[in-house]
Amino acid sequence: MRLTEFFLPTLREAPADADIISAKMMFRSGMIRKLASGIYEWLPLGLKVLKKVEQIIREEMGKIGGNEVWLPILLPRSLWDETGRWDVYGKELCRLKDRKDSDFCLGPTHEEVITDLVRREIRSYRELPLMLYQFGIKFRDEIRPRFGVMRAREFYMKDAYSFHPDEKDAEQYYQKVFNAYKKICERCGFKYREVEAATGAIGGSFSHEFMVLADTGEEEIVSCECGYGANTEKAEVKQGAGERGQGTEKPLEEKHTPNMRTVEEVGKFLKASPKNFIKTLIYQADNEPVVALVRGDYELNEHKLQSALNCSILALADEKTIEKATGAPLGFAGPVKLKDKNIKIIADYSAEGMINAISGANKKDYHLANININRDYKPAKVTDLRKVKRGDKCPRCGKDLNFSRGIEVGHTFKLGLKYSKSMKATYLDKGGKEQLMVMGCYGIGVSRIVAATIEQSHDENGVIWPLPLAPFHVVVIPINWQDEQTKKVSEQIYDELSKKGIDVLLDDRDERAGIKFKDADLIGIPYRITVSDKNLKDNKLELKARWEKKEESRIIDIDKIVDEICSKVK
Ligand code: ATP
Ligand code: MG
Repeated sequence: MRLTEFFLPTLREAPADADIISAKMMFRSGMIRKLASGIYEWLPLGLKVLKKVEQIIREEMGKIGGNEVWLPILLPRSLWDETGRWDVYGKELCRLKDRKDSDFCLGPTHEEVITDLVRREIRSYRELPLMLYQFGIKFRDEIRPRFGVMRAREFYMKDAYSFHPDEKDAEQYYQKVFNAYKKICERCGFKYREVEAATGAIGGSFSHEFMVLADTGEEEIVSCECGYGANTEKAEVKQGAGERGQGTEKPLEEKHTPNMRTVEEVGKFLKASPKNFIKTLIYQADNEPVVALVRGDYELNEHKLQSALNCSILALADEKTIEKATGAPLGFAGPVKLKDKNIKIIADYSAEGMINAISGANKKDYHLANININRDYKPAKVTDLRKVKRGDKCPRCGKDLNFSRGIEVGHTFKLGLKYSKSMKATYLDKGGKEQLMVMGCYGIGVSRIVAATIEQSHDENGVIWPLPLAPFHVVVIPINWQDEQTKKVSEQIYDELSKKGIDVLLDDRDERAGIKFKDADLIGIPYRITVSDKNLKDNKLELKARWEKKEESRIIDIDKIVDEICSKVK
């Protein structure tokens, strides 16, 4: 590509709302522009990188027997009613009507569509297993679109779905996809970690996330040298972890705590540490109120609570529900003497080890001291409900957990029967008996990968593309385009490299060398060949890699340059 023919609108300054280094660089290097909040246009340079990522993924999906399809983005409500997700998905799902007033949504993910397709087409065990995947636009009306294309509303995803005759086959195949995802991360040049994750709105029995390590990542992950890794949403805390209470049980005592509603306020007043408190939270789980307990210095993990309750919708209860359940306004709830005698109490393991604890008295302006489990209240269930915290130990080996941040680029789910059951996706087994298909689904954010790469690979001058994702492998920079010999040699190298299948950009602009170097650094081309009349006198050129310093550049014979580049690129 000749730069004079290439649409590359670079910017000296990033737009003010670019809130992260990768977004700034994508704007400045002319990869993207913004149309509306979370909605972007991809310009030629950005699209070239996107296509390279796409191709790597396509190759790895091909190696594990994937079949590429192309699914619609406008999806009829009827399919979403079958799985119940029309009601459950929430506001991220963009719902709209056609001219006949029928309900549709823009696909945020395609489990319903693919399960429908497969149940119509697959009859027999002979046709299984089957893996279908697509590249396509997803629409999710994210509450807070940010970080450029990293958390967009419209984004480009590869989503894959596999169908199996039984659990064993599904699990074996899951491992194959897992390895393919690792391969993709490696080919993209990522420093990454694969971690156990919560299953969330997609559902299913277990899942893993592929996290690119970066301080700007939205996710917090824990890991251990023993190989354990998990998203903090999912990271397990073992029963009996952390210290236990000491002493003997004392009689319950009511404390007047006027207008004190938080652990901090009451703690200060009663001179007690948050560790002595039971945080009592009232939730609404599928329209049932529930009381959840966790020790005062810990935070409740809603993902864990949701799976412990096995409910589809979980939210903190409103004040009216709280009053009805506890008999007191917000801030005075506790596990003892609840107004609603039938309300379910579910406690975190941390509540188990507490002796003489403090919590609300279910009475306005009062708290209770010396609360003891089993004597004063009996939870229906005690389980792991809290978020991991710095200082927690690995649930597998007991060593200290490491905390770091990551960008989730991929997510694999073992779905089991979740969709095949509700949508009746069945096949006939060897004995002619109807069986449900076992499913897996596997997403990877193609557009997010582009941004994540830049987060990991840049300097103050711009992007540093790893070779496999680079929009061009090499840029040829003639110092003086007006000089006939410089022009001739530059074009000759450009032609020869192009013929060898190298992605090469010729900076044929009549611009100052400084501007050309700056742009080449900004857009991050891995190799730069500089053609100057000074070196040409000795039949030589200058070659520099983007990640090398100026003084590390090498002077090379003109007739060796093509082989040199080919050996580096291929
Ligand atoms: P997140 O927790 O970041 O919202 P998710 O769990 O909702 O992600 P999945 O439904 O598993 O994401 O989607 C698969 C992949 O699609 C993610 O791993 C991510 O790379 C990408 N992705 C998800 N949401 C967005 C978005 N809003 N913008 C860009 N890419 C996204
Ligand atoms: Mg999401």
